[in-house]
Amino acid sequence: MEYSDNYYVRTKSYSINSNKLNESLQCDVCIIGGGLSGISTAYYLNKINPNLKIIILEKNKIGWGASGRNGGQLLHDYSGNFSSQKHSNNEQKQLWNFTIDAVREVKKNIKDLNIKCDLVEGYLLTAVTRSHDEELKKYVDLLNNKYDYSSASYLSKEEMKRYFESPYYKSAMFDKECGQIHPLNYCLGLAQEILKNKNCKIFEDSSVESYTSENKVKILLDSGCNVTADKMILCCNAYIGNLNKKLRRKIMPVKTYVSAFKDIPKDEINKFFKRQITIGDMLFVLNYFRLDKNNNLIFGGGVSYSNVDPINLENSLKKSIKKILPGLEKYKAWCTWSGHVAITVNRLPHIGAIDKNILFAQGYSGHGLAITTMVGRMIAEVLLSRNNDFELFKKVEHRNFPGFGVLDTPLLVLAMSYFKLKDLLSFK
Ligand SMILES: Cc1cc2nc3c(=O)[nH]c(=O)nc-3n(C[C@H](O)[C@H](O)[C@H](O)COP(=O)(O)OP(=O)(O)OC[C@H]3O[C@@H](n4cnc5c(N)ncnc54)[C@H](O)[C@@H]3O)c2cc1C
Repeated sequence: MEYSDNYYVRTKSYSINSNKLNESLQCDVCIIGGGLSGISTAYYLNKINPNLKIIILEKNKIGWGASGRNGGQLLHDYSGNFSSQKHSNNEQKQLWNFTIDAVREVKKNIKDLNIKCDLVEGYLLTAVTRSHDEELKKYVDLLNNKYDYSSASYLSKEEMKRYFESPYYKSAMFDKECGQIHPLNYCLGLAQEILKNKNCKIFEDSSVESYTSENKVKILLDSGCNVTADKMILCCNAYIGNLNKKLRRKIMPVKTYVSAFKDIPKDEINKFFKRQITIGDMLFVLNYFRLDKNNNLIFGGGVSYSNVDPINLENSLKKSIKKILPGLEKYKAWCTWSGHVAITVNRLPHIGAIDKNILFAQGYSGHGLAITTMVGRMIAEVLLSRNNDFELFKKVEHRNFPGFGVLDTPLLVLAMSYFKLKDLLSFK
């Protein structure tokens, strides 16, 4: 399938020269899924051992999934919280550090490989309610004092005005290391780097139907061709379908929406944005938006648990724009699109091994832009026996979504309606 229309596809700077797989091949490592998890894993495997024969099989196009249509917010931390898991305080700190290392690693790759993907540093996590404000102060304290992270600071509403002004928000955390990128260009930039080595091959339009794992993994494509590999990495995330039902039960694909606005006059934008910056709020069904390097507004939000989109995606996002950036709702979006986020029950990533030959990573719960790079590095290091963080992720307990199959969506709708209601009721 071709890319679906979105801002990143319209503004992409790289093209990957790849074909459909039309012969049967052998390799050392075969990666299924050409999003940021898969591409990053290949990038680090190749970096550590350029002699490895690596094949990436992508059903659609590189970055076609969440990686090429997300909000572009480059953030630390996770959607969920490790305190309910069996990790010690030290392990929790290690897991948090993993995410800030992820943000730094993405920036390092951008610099080292000269990837043109519009990096802008600076992020505000904004409080809508008084209880958010209390939570925010505790969070900044935790980062500053327990995690020894000094790049985040608390801002009162007045202090926030240095960066951004909105009647909707009470206060914010400013983080100078987090920020934003053009995610598709980052993904394609990494893919282009991988293809410099003839030992690495990317096949698009190549859908994996099934696999068997004995001494080696035999991977069967819908075309009838197959790949035999020593190791396989599953990186299909929300789009995994029936390829592995056990993994699919641990995630729920949830749709979220983004609009890009190109034609808002500068003086209107400047009423709110004092500089290019990335913003996300603390609502359960959050609004996430940013002013990008080209002064375009990229605004995301909303969720849908069925496959049915709101009748008018743009108008449904404009209800939030009207509250947060009043006046800007009258401008027409350049384009609006949707994508599937893979959420887990505990909102923590689901990473592990199926057997000695197969590893997987999925379920970043809407928070995967930065961490996929670090997960790719970790998986590569695990395969080449050089990493311990993997055990910390394997220790996370992941429950199946209840009533998987016929019932999963209605149950999720119920749960999410509850949280939406909570957002509404806590609005004081
Ligand atoms: C609208 C939206 C906004 C988001 N905003 C943010 C944000 O601002 N910040 C943030 O941190 N995170 C955000 N996320 C989440 C983030 O984009 C994802 O966590 C991350 O991109 C996941 O990368 P991935 O490689 O694991 O999955 P994907 O990018 O989804 O890649 C999976 C790939 O696997 C392929 N595939 C599936 N099945 C097969 C098969 N059988 N054979 C071959 N290939 C297959 C698919 O075609 C797809 O390309 C957002 C997500 C969405 C959808």
